[in-house]
Amino acid sequence: MNPLRQATDAVWAGEEHQRLTGATVVPVSLGVAHGYPDVDTWQAVARGQTPGHIYARNTNPTVDAFEHKIRALEQADDATSFSTGMAAISNTLFALLEPGDRVVSVKDTYGGTNQIFLHTLPHWSVDVELCDTADADAIEAAIGKGSALVYLETPTNPTLKVIPIARLAAAAHAVGAVVVVDNTAATPINQSPLALGVDLVIHSATKYLGGHADAMGGALCGRRELVRKVFHHREITGASLDAMSAYLLLRGMKTLSLRVERQNASALEIARWLERHPRVSQVNYPGLASHPQHDIAANQMRGFGGMLSFALKGGFDEVTRVLPKLHLMHRAANLGAVETGGGPPATTSHVECSAEERAAMGIPEGLIRYSVGIEAVEDLIADLAQALA
Ligand SMILES: *Cc1c(COP(=O)(O)O)cnc(C)c1O
Repeated sequence: MNPLRQATDAVWAGEEHQRLTGATVVPVSLGVAHGYPDVDTWQAVARGQTPGHIYARNTNPTVDAFEHKIRALEQADDATSFSTGMAAISNTLFALLEPGDRVVSVKDTYGGTNQIFLHTLPHWSVDVELCDTADADAIEAAIGKGSALVYLETPTNPTLKVIPIARLAAAAHAVGAVVVVDNTAATPINQSPLALGVDLVIHSATKYLGGHADAMGGALCGRRELVRKVFHHREITGASLDAMSAYLLLRGMKTLSLRVERQNASALEIARWLERHPRVSQVNYPGLASHPQHDIAANQMRGFGGMLSFALKGGFDEVTRVLPKLHLMHRAANLGAVETGGGPPATTSHVECSAEERAAMGIPEGLIRYSVGIEAVEDLIADLAQALA
């Protein structure tokens, strides 16, 4: 068949060959091990010559369906999965890097990723240079000094900075570096980094892919030999996705394109409304014409996403006053769910970091991250209006 559109792949991809006895959904396959009647078949499966499963830390039928679906959505050669987004990130970095390597990344990566760059990789003698996220010239210059791996995240959380993917992927390939992009915030619906020249795409499936804040998971998609290398590392280190989470993520992904379309539209409307509000000093959303990298975002994204952040004129005191008044915002660290959620970076995206580390990343303590859900946008705006009044 011709390549299908993402809204169709979100529903169908990866499922057909895992359904049992005509069931409408992929079953939750809870068996830890799979048995074979004779040693020859068993060995052929174990060696990867015949399709099949041996042990659930390696592969599992429900997890397999999840991997096929995210692979289809990212239009990748291959995909593998992990117990969490951080497991995807750490296994990718540990599998592809060795002592003496140099990594170029940005200051505004997800809090847990930033901790790996600041503490874990240097401990294993990997040199990390973290550049100013909004300065593409500086990132390009750092890459030009030589690098084994370039790690990007765009848009960033919580300040929604945007990085030019195609330009930096070209710079990275010129020095022989592997390019990795964390596509969690954009989702495959809004941004396709592989089509922009990147080698590997990472997701925290916990966020938009699952979409219902009830399952954790991670995914890695991209060039087959790189994905296989990381998969073999994860088979041994053991941060494997479990079947129940894979089932919940698969169910959530069926509505991914519906949810993201609604979240894109609502976030843009809310960002424009906040920008006109007298008590708001700053709104960060790549869809706003006032966003410093709006042109880059418009170039590489099909939609601007469901996440925004805004700063109140009264600073952190005002944040503590306003937050409890919001009735339609779950005050929690999660993002990308059907219900609107949010909070200050100190308790959400960058809870892993110290106040000094947040300041070094340029994250104001008076900011509110707002992850727009699928509620009626009129109700969300009315809720913000009464809380800010
Ligand atoms: C949440 C998040 C992660 C980490 O994912 P977990 O599933 O919580 O481990 C990584 N990157 C981004 C951009 C995230 O938002």
